[in-house]
Amino acid sequence: MKSTKIDDAALVVFSGGQDSTTCLFWAKAHFKTVRAISFFYGQKHSLEVELAEKIAKDAGVEWEMMDVSFISKLSTGCSLTDTSLEIEKEKNPEDTFPSTFVPGRNLFFLSIAAVKAREYGIRHLVTGVSQTDFSGYPDCRDSFIKSLNVTLNLAMDEQFVLHTPLMWIDKAQTWALADELGVLDLVRNSTLTCYNGVVGDGCGHCPACKLRREGLDKYLSSKQGD
Ligand code: ZN
Repeated sequence: MKSTKIDDAALVVFSGGQDSTTCLFWAKAHFKTVRAISFFYGQKHSLEVELAEKIAKDAGVEWEMMDVSFISKLSTGCSLTDTSLEIEKEKNPEDTFPSTFVPGRNLFFLSIAAVKAREYGIRHLVTGVSQTDFSGYPDCRDSFIKSLNVTLNLAMDEQFVLHTPLMWIDKAQTWALADELGVLDLVRNSTLTCYNGVVGDGCGHCPACKLRREGLDKYLSSKQGD
C-alpha cells in the first residue's frame, strides 16, 4: 500500500563519520523531520555504529540500525571487513580499487533506505557521497546516484529524491559546511572517519585521516585569512 508522502521529512543514510554527520545536520536545517539509518555491514570498527546512535540521539533524530553483514560475505579482499587483512596505508596505484572498497555498498544502503523511507512515507533521502573525494569508489559518483534514483523510482513507482549535499565539494568545503551549520566542533570531536577506529582527529596516518586533516587545515587557514 502506498502511504501519504511527508514532503518535509528526510531519511539520512548515516555512518557516524564526518561526511554523513555533516549531512545529518544539513538535513535538519532543510527538513522539519529527520530520521537516520545506519548499517552494520561487518565492518571491523563496530564502534562506528555506536557513535552514530549517540550522535543521532543527541541531535534529537530518530535512529535505527539495519544489520546487513551479509554484504561482507558476498565478496572477499576488503580490508574494512576482512579481519585477515590490514587496512592499507596508501592505495597501490596498480589496483583498480582501494582495498577499502566494499562492492555494492551504497547500492545496498540506498536501496534498503529507500524501502524504509517508503514505509515511513518519506521521499527525500540524503547521502554523504562525494565525487570530489571519491577515493576510487565508483558508487560515490554522481552518475551512479542519478541512475539509482531513476531505478528506485521505477522499482517502487515512487518519486524519491536522492540528495547529495557533498557531491561537488571537497573536504575543506565539507568542514566549512559543518561550521556554517554550527557543528564544526561536534563533527571534529565526535565522529569517526579513521580506518584504525580512532574517534575525532583519528590516528593521523591512515588515508582517511590524512584526507580529513588536510581538509581541516585548509579550511581553518582559509578562515584565518578572512
Ligand atoms: Zn586514521
